[in-house]
Amino acid sequence: MSDDPAEVQVHGAGWAGLAIARGLADAGVRVRLVDPAGVLGGASGRALGVALPTHPEHPHRLEAGLGTAGAAALVAFIREGLDALPGLARVGVDWLASPQERGELDDALAAAARIGLGATRTDAGYHLHDGGGVDLAALLAALRGPDPVPVHATAGTAEVDVYATGAVALDPFLADKLTPVRWQAVHFDGPALAVPVVSQHATVFWAGGLSAAGARWATPHMEVGETSPVPEPRVTAMLERLTRAAFPDAGAILDVRAGIVAESCDGLPIVGPVPGRPRAVVCAGFGVAGLAYALPCARAVVDGLLGRPSAGVPKPLRTARFAP
Ligand SMILES: Cc1cc2nc3c(=O)[nH]c(=O)nc-3n(C[C@H](O)[C@H](O)[C@H](O)COP(=O)(O)OP(=O)(O)OC[C@H]3O[C@@H](n4cnc5c(N)ncnc54)[C@H](O)[C@@H]3O)c2cc1C
Repeated sequence: MSDDPAEVQVHGAGWAGLAIARGLADAGVRVRLVDPAGVLGGASGRALGVALPTHPEHPHRLEAGLGTAGAAALVAFIREGLDALPGLARVGVDWLASPQERGELDDALAAAARIGLGATRTDAGYHLHDGGGVDLAALLAALRGPDPVPVHATAGTAEVDVYATGAVALDPFLADKLTPVRWQAVHFDGPALAVPVVSQHATVFWAGGLSAAGARWATPHMEVGETSPVPEPRVTAMLERLTRAAFPDAGAILDVRAGIVAESCDGLPIVGPVPGRPRAVVCAGFGVAGLAYALPCARAVVDGLLGRPSAGVPKPLRTARFAP
């Protein structure tokens, strides 16, 4: 290994940081990857493996927020990311509508068609044609590669620093833009689900058995601001109740785990050079949709650092939206 100082230092060895480090190393860049918790020690190591083909919001609400063209560009960006996602079983994703949401399903499906998101009405809500479940071991193997970039516990120096530290706002630019939210997963002893399911409570069910993850509604503060990845019993109880209501044949609880996800101030990832400081690059704020966002955003960061021709990330994800 070369003793030369790194050209790029990547902080964070979650999916985003690993993908950036891999892409740079493959291009011959001297990379230093830093994470005091080691590989996948943060939220990435807790995820279930549901790859949404869109932002985790109903299509008509996404369209209302970004406009038709903006929402379509975001969906296209995510679809390109899914095309390159190792370990993806493209079985689609079922959206389970709550009774309150049932009146919005026509709007959701009409908007899905306008923004290029394949969707079909089902008895319980709608089925998104793209996305699916990811074999996370296969994803990790692909991100590490045959010649893994070593992970250091402490930072060194480099020409450029990339901050892929999830909910930890290591660069001051992120301090007022990211909020930690504790999410947790409860794993049940079956039954196996063929297709991942998501629901209004930001609950997802998936994984070669039956697992439920979520946070919302179970505690008064909805787990916002929680930085300790220790499961909260009220959230466990809520997830168990929601799961057994949706899947009455769910087995015994096998395992409960929590992780801290990074929600951004406007709900969208934050990717690119810090305005006014091009040697500091951020790639964070994926909330609960890391599999949809982290890899295509990482690829855009790598392209940007290498000066490769690239469309970059869609405008609503760029750091430039916060430029003074
Ligand atoms: C229970 C649960 C279930 C989930 N299920 C899904 C799912 O099914 N599908 C999906 O798409 N998403 C899911 N998510 C969300 C997903 O895990 C995140 O969106 C994704 O992991 C974010 O990746 P990341 O690389 O940005 O962050 P992280 O994985 O959090 O990586 C950030 C890294 O930075 C490191 N770090 C912190 N401080 C420093 C420092 N000072 N220096 C260097 N490194 C530092 C941390 O140790 C961590 O490893 C789930 C999350 C949880 C908690």
